[in-house]
Amino acid sequence: MCLTLGSVTRELRLDLGRSSREDVGEARGSERCIVSVIGGHYDAPHLARVAANFAALTPLSFLARAAAVYPDKLAVIDGDARYSYGEIYARCRRLADALQRRGIGPGDTVAVLAPNIPALLEAHYGVPMAGAVLNALNTRLDARSVAFILGHGQAKLLIADREFGPVVKAALAELGRPLPLVEIGDGQHADTLGGTLYETFLGEGDPAFDWPRPLDEWAPITLNYTSGTTGNPKGVVYHHRGAFLNALGNAITFGLDRHSVYLWTLPMFHCNGWTYTWAVTAVAGTHVCLRRVDPAAIFGLIEKHRVTNLCGAPIVLNLLAHAPEAVKRRFDHIVEVATGGAAPPSAVIRAMEEMGFRVTHLYGLTESYGPSTVCAWQEAWEGLPIDERAGRMARQGVASLTLGGQRVVDPAMADVPADGVTLGELVLRSNTLMRGYLKNPRATAEAFAEGWFHTGDLAVMHPDGYVEIKDRAKDIIISGGENISSLEVEEALYRHPHIMEAAVVAGPDPKWGESPCAFVSLTPNAPPLSAADIIAWCRANLAHYKVPRTVVFGPLPKTSTGKVQKFDLRDRAKELAS
Ligand code: ADP
Repeated sequence: MCLTLGSVTRELRLDLGRSSREDVGEARGSERCIVSVIGGHYDAPHLARVAANFAALTPLSFLARAAAVYPDKLAVIDGDARYSYGEIYARCRRLADALQRRGIGPGDTVAVLAPNIPALLEAHYGVPMAGAVLNALNTRLDARSVAFILGHGQAKLLIADREFGPVVKAALAELGRPLPLVEIGDGQHADTLGGTLYETFLGEGDPAFDWPRPLDEWAPITLNYTSGTTGNPKGVVYHHRGAFLNALGNAITFGLDRHSVYLWTLPMFHCNGWTYTWAVTAVAGTHVCLRRVDPAAIFGLIEKHRVTNLCGAPIVLNLLAHAPEAVKRRFDHIVEVATGGAAPPSAVIRAMEEMGFRVTHLYGLTESYGPSTVCAWQEAWEGLPIDERAGRMARQGVASLTLGGQRVVDPAMADVPADGVTLGELVLRSNTLMRGYLKNPRATAEAFAEGWFHTGDLAVMHPDGYVEIKDRAKDIIISGGENISSLEVEEALYRHPHIMEAAVVAGPDPKWGESPCAFVSLTPNAPPLSAADIIAWCRANLAHYKVPRTVVFGPLPKTSTGKVQKFDLRDRAKELAS
């Protein structure tokens, strides 16, 4: 909370835990001054925090409420299975009680390796209802990485789907210590992993279990590992308060209500599904589970259940846009799609809009519970030609509802001018930021240096207050002293009608130091195209110094979260140049 006192911006720090008054003094200029002020007659004992007017914020309360208000309402669809809110709540309470009976409680980690199925959704409630911390594992990880995370997070129990049997077995062997296992039968893989069956495990718990509300909203709720593009992944610790706030902010931003039908195209393991695991329940909407991203299944489910909302990385949108005509459907209702996690090329936004989807562009990181920034729609854009509109929407945008603030700053932490040109680092401040990295005080201190969270993303601030990400700091190409945004070159490539995917990295250049090297994959129906054709296209669409010198055709290597592995491509670009 900020009070403006004369020319000095004062930040009011209310320490609810201790009601301390601390005058930290003034920082330079109007930048920051933390003064705890509780005004005279408002400071009376009878105005204090008591049980009647204060409870720790937690998204677990969303499920309790949905079950109380709408016990028979459809909460979850999974293939032919249906669960009401009353049933899901009972299952989550069973899970929490079963975990407690196995000795799991506050401070313990429970890992889950499963696709977007009811068990993983239930774990988002059942595990913290036992006081424990949920660690949803990325299903695309190899056994070594899974073993690393199980070890680092000190998992006390693993719930795993049989689909990932081989990875589970190898990871447990590598872990080198026994780990209690609960396994989910997927209906296809009959081989048991030697654990307790999930449904049997639920049977051990009481459906009326009186779960303890967290006393402290700062208590950890989940542990999410970053994809570790630069070494071992970091364990991001979320708190109940941030999960509660981000979920409600997302529900409002995405227009969710009790009629919403949400299709799970975004992995629940990715930032807890950007907190939609809790947001959809907050409004008592319906979750539609989805084992894997398959365009035919997605179009079919949207039609069958009249899905209103879905989220996904631009690659998911790209898959839908390039799906065979035979599986594509037109809908007589609007399907809202939120995309983020990587820059969506405007060509992809346009293709989705043309199919009748309404696209919202979000930006965020694991550290910010998923979306922190939204390209808020302006009515004035309505009349713009579709290309121009898609261009506006391809910007990352403004602070989301619950974000404390965002700035684009130079290395001295001064704001860059809002000219749409000057590059700086995007920094964030919010109640919806992680507590820190598990067992990594150094990385946490670096991330929070100067009182702001450093995203490591380079951005510009436009005159209308919208932020546009130009690159990750390590991906920017510096050619003859000029910065070239790899995203800008990729954006031009994506506008080519036959380019399906594009990634641009710095390649060594004897004259300019670095120059752009493009890796592209073509659409299935593409005519034969040469590097010269692609370069000619870029020349027509980009300043000359930004045009790739080299173009390589073929599938792009991806990380376990579906992002292009640019470090790998940088190595390949180096090899090509040598
Ligand atoms: P990881 O850091 O392990 O790749 P994250 O999901 O935390 O996993 O990735 C966050 C990063 O993804 C951001 O720092 C940014 O570089 C990129 N990103 C996320 N959303 C967008 C977006 N809308 N546009 C451009 N880049 C994005």
